[in-house]
Amino acid sequence: MSDRREFVKISLLSSAALLSGSKLSAQQKIPDEKKYNTTKGKPVVISTWDFGQAANAGAWSVLEQYGKAIDAVEAGVKIPEANPFNQSVGYGGRPDRDGRVTLDACIMDEQGKCGSVACIEHIKHPISVARMVMERTPHVMLVGDGALQFALANGFKREKLLTSQSERDWREWLKREKYAPQKNIENRMPGGADNHDTIGMIAIDMKGNISGACTTSGMAYKMHGRVGDSPIIGAGLYVDNEVGAATGTGVGEEVIRIVGAHLIVELMRMGLTPEAACKRAIERIAANNPGNPNDIQVGFLALNKHGEYGAYALQKGFSYSVKNGHEDVVLEAKHLL
Ligand code: ASP
Repeated sequence: MSDRREFVKISLLSSAALLSGSKLSAQQKIPDEKKYNTTKGKPVVISTWDFGQAANAGAWSVLEQYGKAIDAVEAGVKIPEANPFNQSVGYGGRPDRDGRVTLDACIMDEQGKCGSVACIEHIKHPISVARMVMERTPHVMLVGDGALQFALANGFKREKLLTSQSERDWREWLKREKYAPQKNIENRMPGGADNHDTIGMIAIDMKGNISGACTTSGMAYKMHGRVGDSPIIGAGLYVDNEVGAATGTGVGEEVIRIVGAHLIVELMRMGLTPEAACKRAIERIAANNPGNPNDIQVGFLALNKHGEYGAYALQKGFSYSVKNGHEDVVLEAKHLL
């Protein structure tokens, strides 16, 4: 058993022990889900994959100082963005089929303000550009060269994002030249070395405000100009401070088709638990792919206003990281297939 799996197993056991004492409040009427993951109070931060744990630590250092959730999620996702060994996010991300690293990111705060960049090149921290779009422009989304020019004009440095490892992998891929996204399951390596992944993060701060961030290099060897769900508000990320927030990872085209994150937040508004809402969204994706649901992977992650979290994936193998006052764990999500 790999260290990662062993760790997930241990984390699951300890979290099951922690959760055994949790209670539902009288008003919470949950239609089809009895199990809760209940955190005792705030703050809390959750994020996709095991590499989310390092990102959560970054977010936590803001949250524990009574910082704002929006600052926490930005600081958190910047950690994998800067990690050259994480080949699915930011610097070191796998390129498109033309060898160009193009990044997608978005951010959303407790007031419903949001910003996004898509298909941006040469900028190591697209999440910070997305935040600047939110704060300094009347727009929500900038793409491609326009996003790059905006970033450069606002003090971001132009950098080479293609690492020698990602270039080697791309050249190897060129020999086969087959656009075939794989399920992100058994062949994942520590640090997210797969052909697609995303860091999606949601946090609640001490004041109870919710924010989220989502950033990725998208599907490896995608067509140049392809944009996935991650920078699309409502698909890769959605925050409603009254209800909760959701984010996800996996084949972005499938997430866009069901407007995944917004759907999950609306399901939570209707009373579903985070896990039950994520499951419903995954069921829709499965229904959209009657012939070949095994060929794709999507994982969703959600947090409600009470700090309760949950996740669900199409395939086995989607993990997520949670940090709050009493847990710092990587959990394996339940799956449909
Ligand atoms: N959702 C990302 C995209 O489609 C990829 C991933 O998370 O695996 O660009």
